[in-house]
Amino acid sequence: MVSLNKNYKNIKESYLFSDIASKVAAFSEKNPDVKIIRMGIGDVTRPLCKSVISEMTKGVKEMGEPETFHGYGPEQGYGFIKEPIKEYYKEHGVELLLDEIFISDGAKSDLGNILDLFSGDNTVLIPDPVYPVYVDTNIMDGRKIIFADSNEENGFLPLPDDSIKADLIYICSPNNPTGAVYNREQLKKWVDYANNNGSIILFDAAYEAFISGDYPKSIYEIEGAKTCAIEFCSLSKTAGFTGTRMGYTVVPKNLKAEDMSLNKMWLRRQTTKFNGVSYIVQKGGLGVFTPEGRKQISENIDYYKENAKIITDCMDELGIFYTGGKNSPYVWLKCPENMESWEFFDLLLKKAGVVGTPGSGFGSNGKNFFRLTAFSTRENTVEAMERFKKLVSSL
Ligand SMILES: *Cc1c(COP(=O)(O)O)cnc(C)c1O
Repeated sequence: MVSLNKNYKNIKESYLFSDIASKVAAFSEKNPDVKIIRMGIGDVTRPLCKSVISEMTKGVKEMGEPETFHGYGPEQGYGFIKEPIKEYYKEHGVELLLDEIFISDGAKSDLGNILDLFSGDNTVLIPDPVYPVYVDTNIMDGRKIIFADSNEENGFLPLPDDSIKADLIYICSPNNPTGAVYNREQLKKWVDYANNNGSIILFDAAYEAFISGDYPKSIYEIEGAKTCAIEFCSLSKTAGFTGTRMGYTVVPKNLKAEDMSLNKMWLRRQTTKFNGVSYIVQKGGLGVFTPEGRKQISENIDYYKENAKIITDCMDELGIFYTGGKNSPYVWLKCPENMESWEFFDLLLKKAGVVGTPGSGFGSNGKNFFRLTAFSTRENTVEAMERFKKLVSSL
């Protein structure tokens, strides 16, 4: 009889977004007149920009003509999209080779798939709170997980210390859910730790496009990172590709462990298990990197960042501690009156009709915190913050 991967029994059911949805549904059934404003789920709302649609449309037309039809493409992506990504990295001082860039159908898949390269014996360090994918994918493989406390004391930016014994280290900067972003000195500490201990950093740069200050957008801006880090990025939050699906993963040629090249292993893995991202979608991705595309996506990002500013202005006015909102679409705030995150969720829904995400859904250190996203419309963000202010002032 077949035997199964029993690690799946150890994955906690994720009730976070379904619990939120059912609480919201129950509330709106009882209060049909209340206009609910959703600032919970981390999905974008602005449509794809014109430049993406224009390139993608060209791709669609090419697919309908015998001379320009494309069948299977290179598993690791077409040169026409890897070139502009290479140029993009060059803008922030990072030199990459084309075959260090692998085009993917998004960061989530690659963050999970990369674990094919590592044995189940490795110990994994994951910040708490964090994007739940890191935890669940490692539980599926039965790896031992240790957590790095991310909390108010360290500004939600944990740093390495010698007591940590970890082989794989996840870093997400700017972070989901906290919006906190590491500076160069802090990231250098992680890079040095990894190089000294033979660990590998899995760096999630999904929100790099939201960085405007002098913070590293790529871990490869830090000296020594090419011998210890793999970087994952995505057009999902950068250019609204959450439903279109394209990302990229960088595996440096110099990254080695046990005398094996991780770049070669990843190439072998991808050519074996993946047949590449749709030609049409890669054409659309090209539209992100043209001069017009760059301008258009930055308009969308500025729109979200202005929403984030409306949220953080409200927190400043109320004197509420928060992280994020400046180089991130997320504002991570401390629940007023030391409330537990689900308690504040219920109160905010019932008294203000505003939906956010309880911090405890991202890890135990989120117990008294709450995530609001800037991915809403301007009108809704303004109205939500007016209601928030009224509620919190009355407590
Ligand atoms: C949204 C998000 C991603 C992007 O995932 P895709 O699969 O590319 O849509 C990756 N990491 C984090 C932390 C995210 O929040």
